[in-house]
Order: sequence, then structure tokens, then C-alpha cells
Amino acid sequence: MLVVTPVVAHLDHGYTFEECKIALDCGFTSIMFDGSRKPLQENIDETAKIADLAHSVGVSCEGEIGFVGYSGGETSDGTKPEEAARFATETNIDAMAISVGNIHLQQKKEGGLDEDRIKSIETVSDVPLVIHGGSGVPLNQRIKLARNSKICKFNIGTELRMAFGNALRLSVNQDTKRFDRIQILKDTHDPLVQATRKVLSTLKQ
Ligand SMILES: [Zn+2]
Repeated sequence: MLVVTPVVAHLDHGYTFEECKIALDCGFTSIMFDGSRKPLQENIDETAKIADLAHSVGVSCEGEIGFVGYSGGETSDGTKPEEAARFATETNIDAMAISVGNIHLQQKKEGGLDEDRIKSIETVSDVPLVIHGGSGVPLNQRIKLARNSKICKFNIGTELRMAFGNALRLSVNQDTKRFDRIQILKDTHDPLVQATRKVLSTLKQ
């Protein structure tokens, strides 16, 4: 039996209308517009325009409210539930990235998410939630929230890039005479598949 897994080609963090439009023209099937550094009304207006455009070609659109900071870089600005409610209603987005203790590029699973803030957001909006910086969320909390909250996506790029980097380093160091990029990169395939499987199966348990 053929099992079809629904996946999308997603533009993460498009910063302008133009960038999002290019992604749609190139055939992306899901986009994100990140206006979270802008004042609320500007973020709402621009996100609404981009969500409209995406929907006109049957593509889903994610927006961001509050600001998710970067490890060793910009600091976060937690999502205010009343702003999230307005943002969700007035933009008509399909998914909402929120700032609830998550931080981009985290290599260690420390701290965790503010569950009270997540609950407050969930009481004022039905839009599926997205956690950027999901690599830094403690595993038990990730499992619990994947099951029992409106969070529908954890972005885990850092976790997978760490698996890739480790596999690449091993492959290169294994033989100092190695030079063929195809051979070297081939060695990263299985470890990355394993790391991804581990994440997915943990969430499914
Ligand atoms: Zn992000």
C-alpha cells in the first residue's frame, strides 16, 4: 500500500512582500511572513496582505506575533495574548508563531516554555501555534505540548543541523585523503534520517 505523507516546501522567515511573492512564484506550498520586528498595526497589515496572496493560490501562510530572539543575539519579546488574538483574527493566517520562552539556535534543552502564557493565548485564539527554536525545548515538554496543546509545529532546525555537522565532521576526519564531496556528504544521510526519525517517533509515542 502506498502511504502518502503530506509535506510542504516552506519558506521560513520571509521578511518582505516581495520575498514571499518570489517563493509563491517558485512553487513553495507554504510560506511564513515575519513582521514581528514591526509595530503591531504594520505587522497586521502586511501579514494580512501576504496571507491573502498566499490563499489566492491555495498556499498556507504563517505569521509571527511577539518576537522570538536568537541565542547569543537579539532578545525575545514575549507574545501578549490580546495582541495574538487581534493578529490572528485580522490577518486570517493559518498558523501563528509565538514567543513563549523559545529562542532560536539553542543547542541545549534548557529553561522550557511558559505554559501559562501558551494557555492564555489558546483561550483567545483557535489558530494553530508554532514554536520556533523548538530544538531548545526539553523533550518531555515537547511531547506533552505536542499532545495537549494547540502547538502544531516545532521548528527543530538546530537539532538536525547538529546531527548533520557531527556526521560531516566524522566523515571528513575518518580519512584525511578524502576529497569527494559526494562520498563525504553521502555519509551524512543516514545519521540525519535517524535523528529525524528519533524526533518524530518520540513525539508520536
Ligand atoms: Zn524562526
